[in-house]
Amino acid sequence: MLDPGVAIATSALMSFVLLVLLGSLLRAGKPGVAEWFGANLAVVLALPMLLLRGTIPDALSVVVANVLLALGGAAYYAGCARFLGRRPHWPMLLTGVVAVGIAVIYWRYAVDSIPMRVFSTTLFSAAFCTALAWMFIRHPPAGRPTYPYRVTAAIAVIFGACQLARGIYFLTLDTASSPSMFSTAGSVLLLVIAAAIMPILSMSAMLMMHDALLADAREAANRDFLTGALSRKGFETLARRYVDRLQLQARPLSLLILDLDHFKRINDTFGHAAGDTVLRAFVQMVQAQLRPTDVLGRIGGEEFALLLPETNLDNAMLLAERLRKAAAVQMVAIGAQAYHYSLSGGVASWQAGESFDRLSVRADRALYEAKHQGRNRICAADVSSAAAVV
Ligand code: GH3
Ligand code: MG
Ligand code: MG
Repeated sequence: MLDPGVAIATSALMSFVLLVLLGSLLRAGKPGVAEWFGANLAVVLALPMLLLRGTIPDALSVVVANVLLALGGAAYYAGCARFLGRRPHWPMLLTGVVAVGIAVIYWRYAVDSIPMRVFSTTLFSAAFCTALAWMFIRHPPAGRPTYPYRVTAAIAVIFGACQLARGIYFLTLDTASSPSMFSTAGSVLLLVIAAAIMPILSMSAMLMMHDALLADAREAANRDFLTGALSRKGFETLARRYVDRLQLQARPLSLLILDLDHFKRINDTFGHAAGDTVLRAFVQMVQAQLRPTDVLGRIGGEEFALLLPETNLDNAMLLAERLRKAAAVQMVAIGAQAYHYSLSGGVASWQAGESFDRLSVRADRALYEAKHQGRNRICAADVSSAAAVV
């Protein structure tokens, strides 16, 4: 039969490896990683003390070790809360840790009972696992794959149940309280599971970090850093997907391409940084007027595209005109001066069977027409040319 010491030593080693791995992720600057790192540190410190029971004073191997393990659990929970953008309730978490400390001291020094000590610590971990699962089920990050969070919740539920079973198992042991209780087959099995909790939950934490970093990388690729609008790649990916869906179920859709007029002059007169300020002010102005389903992308230096779902040509023209007028009266402060700018736009409404590329070409041609007619105006694309454009 497996020696309980082997399970504890293996867990200590795994926690140490995860401590190093989480340490390498500290630089990623994600909320919660520092707490997860702290949780593993507490476990790495506590487990050798458990191993040395009988060799070192019980104050260390029983009291400090169990308090450190409880602190590790609390820190892990706090890390998850912060990772999910929630406030960790440290006073409540620390109350739980203190309760474990008091229970362990009482059941060691007032009444020396191993079953009651095990029961009180496992009750704490079962509560911690349940709270953890509950948090992940109720508050998974919006707009991201649910897999890492469901996995963590499921692991927490399984561990919580095993911890409760371990506590109850010790209460049912019909022998005098002695360290030999830790060596029964059931006890060793449940200890092996308990010893795996923090390493496995830390692996879940790495899984969640992986998801968050992947989402960051995707966001960086799909978003324009200067203005906050989608990048050309992000916009086109989304727009193509949208148009593909329309091939199955035709609905109104319009595309508006906007280009700031004589933008080169702004740069030449006020400098490139001033040009950047105008671009940011323009995007802010547009975004304030959009519906949540409208999509804005920066498709060139001073050229932007707006995908307008459920919008026919007339309504798209109305919006385009509103934006043009708003741009024409917008004063962008550049240093002590304020600068006016204007924009031209081309609008095309999607025709059944049309590809996104065709729609873009028609909107682009309408924009060219607006520039040709003298700028600061919006032109609608010719619908009859939809099929002819290649
Ligand atoms: P038009 O009315 O015909 O569109 O004239 P325009 O000057 O706006 O167009 P043109 O294509 O000649 O020049 C676009 C300018 O936009 C040139 C380029 O330096 C500037 N530009 C492109 N990207 C950025 C940027 O990120 N920041 C700044 N400040 N300027 C940019
Ligand atoms: Mg321009
Ligand atoms: Mg341009």
